[in-house]
Amino acid sequence: APRTFDVIVVGAGPAGSAAALEVARAGYSVALVERGPFPGSKNVYGGVVYGRVLDELVPRWWERMPVQRWVTRRQTMVMTETQALTVDFRTEDWGRPPYNGATAHRADLDSWLAELAVEAGAVLVPSTVVTGLLRDRAGAVVGVRTDRPDGDLTGGVVIACDGVNSFLAKEAGMYDTEHQAEHLTLGVKQTLALSRETIEERFAVTGRHGVDIEMLGCTKGIPGGGFLYTNYESISIGVVLGLTGVRDGGTRPEDLVAELKRHPAIAPLVKGGEQIEYSAHLIPEGGYHSMPELVGDGILVAGDAAAMCLAAGIWLEGVNFALGAGMFAGRAAAKALRAGDVSKTGLGGYRKLLENSFVLADHRKLRDFPALVLGERTQQRYPGLVCDLVQGLFQVDNPAPKPGLRKLLLRSAKDNGVRLRDLVRDGWTGMRGL
Ligand code: FAD
Repeated sequence: APRTFDVIVVGAGPAGSAAALEVARAGYSVALVERGPFPGSKNVYGGVVYGRVLDELVPRWWERMPVQRWVTRRQTMVMTETQALTVDFRTEDWGRPPYNGATAHRADLDSWLAELAVEAGAVLVPSTVVTGLLRDRAGAVVGVRTDRPDGDLTGGVVIACDGVNSFLAKEAGMYDTEHQAEHLTLGVKQTLALSRETIEERFAVTGRHGVDIEMLGCTKGIPGGGFLYTNYESISIGVVLGLTGVRDGGTRPEDLVAELKRHPAIAPLVKGGEQIEYSAHLIPEGGYHSMPELVGDGILVAGDAAAMCLAAGIWLEGVNFALGAGMFAGRAAAKALRAGDVSKTGLGGYRKLLENSFVLADHRKLRDFPALVLGERTQQRYPGLVCDLVQGLFQVDNPAPKPGLRKLLLRSAKDNGVRLRDLVRDGWTGMRGL
């Protein structure tokens, strides 16, 4: 016989656990269904969680979260095969409560978040794949099918937190079209073991402090970028690549990671690091323009399942957006249950909560960023332009007199095939986004 809950949450990633936590806290019964043997077992990310959204979910979360290192140093690197310009920022403020970002392993982080939901009363159902939706005669969602014998679960509200490519949201008809390949990127990551002392020396950090590096110009023209994060006794390095670019580019992702590790600016940082993990996962990078409908009769969609990952150049934030969306989905579901109306109208508060928070506000603000960052000029021409410009500024050419900045800019633009008109336009789009 089907088991019945007030709410069924599909997927115990950050979105699902936050949703289940809020539903349980509101006093409703909730099942948190996860296909992996434990939460986080199937999940991949680069490695940094931004904590502000946790302030609202878990007071003094920093005392409990399984953290590797607190990010106190952030670098953005623009590179060509032979050059690298790094913007390097550090602040002690991020190394003490309430902190800013932290590196954490997904198996630890997701298990911890799910445990919070369970402590609040949610029922975690691991090793169980949701295979479809149950609907009533009018088409409203009233539960899910699973791969277990007699595994149907019925409930007032289903919250789909099943991650990128959510087949539940698709089955519910919430995506207009199939998730198109141009909205997806592929993240490929290696974790390399390095001793604590080596990390401290190479990255100039002490104690639990760590570094987050983002890179542009290291993907051989395939739209994307690179990242490097420090854990306590390992580092994570990888690339994020536009899926169509991988298809058309003729370079294998793991070869790009290998090449990145050989780059003169990176090689000294990763030297001797032994690979202890290799993983790959899709990322929904289309942003605001690619989001599905978020609310249906009896169903809400949150996190990567709703393309809420914010991936826009210097930002690669998905966990905090998933946590925020999950939290609001849980609250909206509880409110609808209280009012006795779980129709699309009854659940409509979810969209308003998202609109009034960073989740949709940031996405709306940065809606043109993914196209700009993944565009041909940003990927293939601007890194060379910027590096040539800076090399020209720093290079001493006497007895020839120093070239003026204007001349340098014009020369770097010309050498890299950039028209000034495009540079100004892209600069304006970037400024407006920021
Ligand atoms: P997920 O974390 O994907 O969770 C979905 C869950 O649903 C999984 O546990 C899955 O097993 C389960 N599931 C799926 N289908 C079913 C089913 N049918 N039945 C039962 N269970 C199911 N974000 C950051 O904040 N910081 C970063 O540094 C960062 N770096 C990244 C680097 C890479 C290489 C990648 C791939 C992503 C990165 N992201 C990063 C993005 C981040 O990982 C996601 O945005 C985030 O995990 C989304 O959370 P979620 O809960 O929506 O989905």
